Amino acid sequence: NDALARAESLIDLTPDYPEPGILFRDISPLLADPEALRVACAALVEPFEGRFDIVGGIEARGFLLAGYVAAVAGVGVLPIRKAGKLPKPAAAVSYDLEYGSAAIEAPGVLKPGERVLLLDDVLATGGTLAAAQQLIRDLGAEVVGSAVVLELVDLGGRAVAGDVHTLFTAHES
Ligand code: IMP
Repeated sequence: NDALARAESLIDLTPDYPEPGILFRDISPLLADPEALRVACAALVEPFEGRFDIVGGIEARGFLLAGYVAAVAGVGVLPIRKAGKLPKPAAAVSYDLEYGSAAIEAPGVLKPGERVLLLDDVLATGGTLAAAQQLIRDLGAEVVGSAVVLELVDLGGRAVAGDVHTLFTAHES
């Protein structure tokens, strides 16, 4: 698919960011391109079409994907935030990072059994997405699926976050 290949080519690489040895992938140029954004969002939801009630976007680039997908699908958005940003978090899940830990939170807006599609830009170790999946279940809702634009396959995220729909794959360096 030419349009998707073009979208993939727009992902920007930055060596040694945010730390030495990390090759950072930035989807900003893809987001900025109307055709790339359109085809990427269409491909993200394609396996889940008609099977979700709300889109969960993981802070921060996941918000942008979730907003676009929700508008196209005619559903709402659930912001999944880094800890400490929400006035009334309804649930929180902590997860381990290479050094230390992080936590994510969500507001109490889901209806029981509501079907959530989770979206993020990059799958790395899978810790963030696995935590988001747990968060949705803790809130009494259902995870219909998880989709990311880019999977860094060498980091093994799929073993942690389960079956993730990925548009593009890349190796660590
Ligand atoms: P994980 O929890 O290790 O899978 O990391 C995934 C989270 O970190 C996602 O929310 C991503 O947005 C972010 N992330 C990790 N690596 C990159 C990258 O190379 N580019 C952009 N975001 C990244």
